Amino acid sequence: MSSKKQASANPAEETIPAPLTNYKIQYTKIFINNEWHDSVSGKKFPVFNPANEEKICDVEEGDKADVDKAVKAARQAFQLGSPWRTMDASQRGRLLNKLADLMERDRLLLATLESVNAGKIFPNAYKMDLSTSLNMLRYFASWADKIQGRTIPIDGQFFSYTRHEPIGVCGQILPWNFPLVVLMVKIGPALCCGNTVVVKPAEQTPLTALHVASLIKEAGFPPGVVNIVPGYGPTAGAAISSHMDVDKVSFTGSTEVGKLIKEAAGKSNLKRVTLELGGKSPCIVFADADLDSAVEFAHHGVFFHQGQCCIAASRLFVEESIYNEFVQRSVERAKKYTLGNPLNPGIQQGPQIDKEQYTKILDLIESGKKEGAKLECGGGPWGEKGYFIQPTVFSNVTDEMRIAKEEIFGPVQQIMKFKTIDEVIRRANNTHYGLAAGIFTKDLDKALTISSALQAGTVWVNCYGGASAQVPFGGYKMSGNGREMGEYGLHEYTEVKTVTIKISEKNS
Ligand code: NAP
Ligand code: MG
Repeated sequence: MSSKKQASANPAEETIPAPLTNYKIQYTKIFINNEWHDSVSGKKFPVFNPANEEKICDVEEGDKADVDKAVKAARQAFQLGSPWRTMDASQRGRLLNKLADLMERDRLLLATLESVNAGKIFPNAYKMDLSTSLNMLRYFASWADKIQGRTIPIDGQFFSYTRHEPIGVCGQILPWNFPLVVLMVKIGPALCCGNTVVVKPAEQTPLTALHVASLIKEAGFPPGVVNIVPGYGPTAGAAISSHMDVDKVSFTGSTEVGKLIKEAAGKSNLKRVTLELGGKSPCIVFADADLDSAVEFAHHGVFFHQGQCCIAASRLFVEESIYNEFVQRSVERAKKYTLGNPLNPGIQQGPQIDKEQYTKILDLIESGKKEGAKLECGGGPWGEKGYFIQPTVFSNVTDEMRIAKEEIFGPVQQIMKFKTIDEVIRRANNTHYGLAAGIFTKDLDKALTISSALQAGTVWVNCYGGASAQVPFGGYKMSGNGREMGEYGLHEYTEVKTVTIKISEKNS
């Protein structure tokens, strides 16, 4: 996810306060029933700053026993007659709005934590992550008392209607690339529909979620409605996806783990599953496009947040007649980056999240060199400390190369050449993924033809990137199941119950 505004307005140029320097990490425990708990095992795990590889703090390590405690609390809070189940729907909306107000109050701290822990350049954390998060909560807050069933005409002796009921206890497993935004994407709809949740943040980035936990209590949510269990995927995450008393699991992360989640759901209680997974999204530029704009959008489409976006435009198809010029301009653009500590002013690219991702990206860059792509710029690590990678552009990329097929999740742009519409549609769709796509052309016919033909959950025309609370988001094929955000996203958090009542024959 990124912002539509990023290509037109550099967030670094807007009036943004300086990040906090004397902040204290206050919350490092497991949040269950509105209380802070040590882990049952007594274990903790370290959390790092990816810009300097230094430890920020230790956090309590949740595991199966802690997930069990959290699920019990969430189940209790979901019991019929509980304060949460009997709450006026409008009041649920007010609680979500209150949470948004508290997050806004703590915006500077949250943005600083997000920058330090997730390596986000501070202006983006402050402007984009925080505003997207607040919008998300307020959007879903306003839905809370507008989720309505229907009355349905059937045989006149009966009256049928539907209730859109909450599903129950929802497990929510988060990624590290947008820790706060994805937390809101998940708890917003779950809570507005009346569910209770057990959240596992990514092990790399639990800090903003734990701060939000403290605000959940301050906002006045009843105990057990939101529970946050930091920990590792194969332990705490797997305990959620295989739990017999979790009714639904929503996951954002890799396709590989997405498959494990679905398998665990199938092997346990067939809980409902929503998956938002990776992508290898095509961005197609025709010769008639506005080149300045296309270069800029294509650039941000892949380099935003160090390339660590599920929608990264990491297969850029450029029409043959403008290919050389497009490559040249893209390289000039990529070379303009200033790398460094994401808290410092003027920095445009921060570190990758951790050593594992850093090593994976460098390996893919090496594969590109070996397989014959032309390295136009970058191509290696940057700096002495931290997981920085030079902005890298490859031209002469062909479809069978690893860099053209695998999700890189790094600051690496692949530029391919195409000749015809049919060819580019076929090549763009020739992937197991189907998350997003971009088309740049002034020809309406081409835009409509291709946007219909592409197998992708989101298609942008003459722009690229952006997530709005109002707009559904999700993937075709192996990029996911279900949709998040917008009204469509609500359907993933309700069960539809049909009630049919016999009416007295005399009066029907
Ligand atoms: P990941 O392993 O899929 O992590 C996502 C979340 O799933 C984390 O909270 C993770 O816990 C948890 N998890 C891991 N194994 C699990 C299991 N067996 N059961 C339940 N939950 C589990 O992603 P990653 O390893 O951090 O990154 C690998 C690749 O995933 C990236 O290179 C990128 O291609 C893709 N990715 C995609 C997105 C996206 O926005 N769609 C986001 C992040 C990564 P841990 O914190 O312990 O890993
Ligand atoms: Mg992982």
